[in-house]
Amino acid sequence: MDLQQLFSQYKEQSIKGRYITLDEIYPILEKLNTKNQLEIIGKSVLEKLIYKYQIGIGKTKILLWSQMHGNESTTTKALIDFLNVLNSNSEFAQKLLNTFTFCCIPILNPDGAKLYTRENANKVDLNRDSQDLSQPESRILRAVFDEFGPDFCYNLHDQRTIFGVGSSGKPATLSFLAPAYNEEREVNESRLKAINIIAKINTVLQQFIPGQVGRFDDAFNINCIGDTFQSLGVPTILFEAGHSQNDYLREETRKFVFIALVSSFETLYENDIVGNEFDKYLSISQNKVVFYDFLYKNIKINYDGIEIITNFAAQYKEELIDNRICFNAYIVHISNLDHYFGHFEYDAEGALYQDENNDFPTLNEKADFYLDNKVKFVNGSILQ
Ligand SMILES: [Zn+2]
Repeated sequence: MDLQQLFSQYKEQSIKGRYITLDEIYPILEKLNTKNQLEIIGKSVLEKLIYKYQIGIGKTKILLWSQMHGNESTTTKALIDFLNVLNSNSEFAQKLLNTFTFCCIPILNPDGAKLYTRENANKVDLNRDSQDLSQPESRILRAVFDEFGPDFCYNLHDQRTIFGVGSSGKPATLSFLAPAYNEEREVNESRLKAINIIAKINTVLQQFIPGQVGRFDDAFNINCIGDTFQSLGVPTILFEAGHSQNDYLREETRKFVFIALVSSFETLYENDIVGNEFDKYLSISQNKVVFYDFLYKNIKINYDGIEIITNFAAQYKEELIDNRICFNAYIVHISNLDHYFGHFEYDAEGALYQDENNDFPTLNEKADFYLDNKVKFVNGSILQ
């Protein structure tokens, strides 16, 4: 199957970018609610409705939830694209619907989505609340898990631009984890199923984004939802949608999440997870914090008459201003920064740094400056 073509055909055109809230997705869910698939399953802290969308009559039950972290919207977009496929009446859709029952919670944390925060409205990280269940959103997910009794769980997230695939200099465009179920990080039958699925997904993704798939650290933390569900014997896969070149709106990554989802279900459909792909899974390089959004090299700075050559880095903060996500670049590190990469790199070749303030880069200031009074940088980038 041509997965890129499938994506182009069913991509939901009404949503794009990073700021995805219930207001955007509800009309789509309503449109897809042709056979009472949509159900209210509870309310958030700020009393926003939380929905699940269930479709399919197959015996393998898949539970997927996205935006448990409110500002992690890429997987929500891809999940909606996938729901469009399931509603397409195509032969492929029929095959999936006869094999699987999909229970989807597209925005588990609607307050965080609106506020564009990781946490919920009580400032609790829902992915550290799976034992305490102190928050309504955590209890809702757990209730759906208990009632639905999934065979597989898909825990859908976004990761920051700081992650690379090992030290390769390539961004971690998508990362995965089959969470541990115990402190010893042993592999049992159910964890192995998650591992095998990830190995298959990786094989497919390498055709599209060679070298840009990472593996998350598997340190055990029972307060994380994936570790909890894995320890309850349900194979669970963590998806982390990340950065690809110049794709801050994550519309390219959205496509790769879609491809990962579809290829995982093809793998399950063909029951292609019976072997042991642990070595292949381990061969996926671990995620490593090696990236800044901007890395400027060989900058000359004049500190009180003493000239030095150094490097410095800037990083976008995603700020919600007037219902829009603004990417504002701030200086975050000034030093050699060996072993780091920039999504944007600039070699100043010794050009002199100047700005409107004190003519040397200052932490937490906006990345607005000149080099040799010629090249002007605004918000991190060269002003053309
Ligand atoms: Zn997350």
